[in-house]
Amino acid sequence: MNTRQEILNGLGRTSEPWDVLVIGGGATGLGAAVEAASRGYRTLLVERFDFAKGTSSRSTKLVHGGVRYLAQLNITLVSDALRERGHMLRNAPHLVHDQQFVVPAYSYASLPYYGFGLKVYEWLSGKLSLGRSEMLSARATAAKLPGIRHEGLRGGILYHDGQFDDSRYAIALLRTLQDLGGTAINYLEATGILESNGKINGIRARDAETGEVLELRAKSVINACGVFVEDLLSINRQRPGELVAVSQGTHFVLPHSFMPGSTALMIPKTADGRVLFAIPWHGATIVGTTDESVDSPSVEPRAMKSERDFLLDHIGKYFGRRPEPGEVLSMWSGLRPLVKKGDAKTSKLSRDHTILVAPSGLITVTGGKWTTYRRMGFDTVNRACEVANLPKAPSRTLDLKLHGWTADLAGGPYAWENVYGSDLPAIRALSSGNPSLDKPLHPRLPFRMREVVWAARYEMARTVEDVLARRTRALFLDARAAIEAAPQVAALLATELKRDATWRERQIAEFCALARGYICSEC
Ligand SMILES: Cc1cc2nc3c(=O)[nH]c(=O)nc-3n(C[C@H](O)[C@H](O)[C@H](O)COP(=O)(O)OP(=O)(O)OC[C@H]3O[C@@H](n4cnc5c(N)ncnc54)[C@H](O)[C@@H]3O)c2cc1C
Repeated sequence: MNTRQEILNGLGRTSEPWDVLVIGGGATGLGAAVEAASRGYRTLLVERFDFAKGTSSRSTKLVHGGVRYLAQLNITLVSDALRERGHMLRNAPHLVHDQQFVVPAYSYASLPYYGFGLKVYEWLSGKLSLGRSEMLSARATAAKLPGIRHEGLRGGILYHDGQFDDSRYAIALLRTLQDLGGTAINYLEATGILESNGKINGIRARDAETGEVLELRAKSVINACGVFVEDLLSINRQRPGELVAVSQGTHFVLPHSFMPGSTALMIPKTADGRVLFAIPWHGATIVGTTDESVDSPSVEPRAMKSERDFLLDHIGKYFGRRPEPGEVLSMWSGLRPLVKKGDAKTSKLSRDHTILVAPSGLITVTGGKWTTYRRMGFDTVNRACEVANLPKAPSRTLDLKLHGWTADLAGGPYAWENVYGSDLPAIRALSSGNPSLDKPLHPRLPFRMREVVWAARYEMARTVEDVLARRTRALFLDARAAIEAAPQVAALLATELKRDATWRERQIAEFCALARGYICSEC
């Protein structure tokens, strides 16, 4: 595999235009790039920070149709997403699995209502259903969800949905893109648009590591910058009016003991009309999310007081106790890029995607969900073919197995190391010649030192944050443990990337400053 420097040198030497150039390395951009490369187009993706640094590492980790959108009667979105869910599970069984959910009912009247709704949800998934939904007695509900408040429980409804690891899925898309002959590079920011006769024919990009500026020519350019798509439209001197409404969602991570067992909790409607999930994930419990409108996007959104209060109050209400100080292991926020519609509240906005072609030919794609990333890529590349008059080629992504695909999940469905799929033997082999790499990164985390080496050599990790936030999920699972692991990670990375002590110290300081924002000091 080429190193980042080799990729960069290759970009500098290439004068032949790319067929498809994608800006933004989140779910949307990676999905479009895989779609393009799998059709045989020469494809390049540039990401200004790290792959999945934005919203795509901060989701609720659900691969779902969205029970909430069914209640809003958005049947097309739900059934399309359920179809995508089925294919994500088939194409990446190492990253997506079936998760049992239970909706507890505290009134007899709600049982048939939610029971019917979840039956419809199951029917809509057709042959790609993950399992039957069923009514549970109060006793069976309490047994499935031992952590929740049992007084007043009248029963529950069990249903199935998909769960995944979002940033690991993004890395699998990156590796799939590379397997298909596509090129992707992180820490390369699109800073300008190249045009000829008013038509876009490339971008200007700046390497964040060296400051070098490159001119990259392309027949079609896709803007997949998430909540930042409008910045690129402004660079292109196009403002289509406001396109994106930004909505923030925050999650808490609690110890597994807070919600023992392997079943997830779903509250379809809290007192203020929101959906609340508590989901087992890599040995902890994720609780979320919120939906707060935000005026302007930021790269590192921080939880608002109103969000922290909402989560603490609802944990208290449904679990019968609020978390003790220190029990909130991590707290993260993400920004949804939603397609704006008048002054509608963000919680009421559709999760459909939209594609806009500017007079210059710049193609912008936004909205959607992680679960619909493939469909978004498919639609966007179809538009790119029209705009750039690329030779027609059929799509293959519906059944394309992603990098790491394996039917053999040796560690059982929930073991962390499954995320590496068929790469796992090669990762384990790293420590057979060097047993110190077998050591855990931290006693409270499921990651080992060899994963840092793997991330640097084969997954384009460049910083301590890349490793602790997105190649492993340390920052998202336990921010304090991630801070304690940072010096070890910095030392391993410095060896791999041939960096000096100054770089190492700066990396540790920068990561610790960032990670402190994931600690809820008022909880
Ligand atoms: C709280 C929350 C929970 C969610 N939960 C779920 C869920 O459970 N299931 C689900 O299906 N969906 C979920 N979603 C939605 C899903 O996460 C998003 O739809 C998806 O991640 C958006 O991906 P994206 O690629 O469009 O944006 P992003 O992931 O933000 O990617 C955009 C990328 O563009 C890069 N970029 C920006 N400007 C430039 C530039 N000039 N040059 C180069 N790169 C640039 C950014 O750095 C960023 O990496 C959730 C969203 C939120 C906020």
